[in-house]
Amino acid sequence: MQALIEAIRSQGHGVGSQIVKVDSFLNHRLDTGLLYEMGKAFALRYADEHPDLVLTVEASGIALALATAHALGDIPVVFAKKSAAANQSGDMAEEKIFSFTRGQECVIRVDLRYIPAGSKVLIVDDFLANGEALRGLIAILKRAGAHLIGVGIAIEKGFQPGGQALRAQGIPLLSLAVIEEIRDGHIRFRDTDQH
Ligand code: 5GP
Repeated sequence: MQALIEAIRSQGHGVGSQIVKVDSFLNHRLDTGLLYEMGKAFALRYADEHPDLVLTVEASGIALALATAHALGDIPVVFAKKSAAANQSGDMAEEKIFSFTRGQECVIRVDLRYIPAGSKVLIVDDFLANGEALRGLIAILKRAGAHLIGVGIAIEKGFQPGGQALRAQGIPLLSLAVIEEIRDGHIRFRDTDQH
């Protein structure tokens, strides 16, 4: 998606060879116009599957999921939580994942009342790296007895294995920008920036 690639080029920067910082439009300050465009792109790709809800993980996935759910006709968003609440319901599905950015294991959890068995679910997230967040969300969907119709990712880092693993499982995946390499602060995109 050209507008996203342009935003990464002009505002994003690489940290070392693994991390992309896009705080000015996706992870801290939000470019609402761009988010709605991304939401529309996911909706266009998956509307024919008639998802019942959009699932993501807090915090950065929420705005993208909201934009997507709005473009799909204001269906609900459910986001996995990363911290346990004292007044948590008894029917929580929990999964341990290894957080790439925190460098440690964490638990994500969803109240199963909000993912009805048999519902069709679109997963959306800001980044795809090793695919741990998605693995956890997909495991929670299985526990809920829900059906995954596909995944929408804003920025896939193609040099990490998450995207390839998902495609190998036959899971539909739309990544709006795929980064091939980060070297000396320069971000090179798949198929679009060969120099
Ligand atoms: P994964 O679970 O696929 O290994 O990592 C995806 C999650 O880690 C995303 O939800 C995102 O929050 C975070 N993440 C992974 N790589 C990056 C990155 O390069 N930049 C930022 N800002 N977040 C990342």
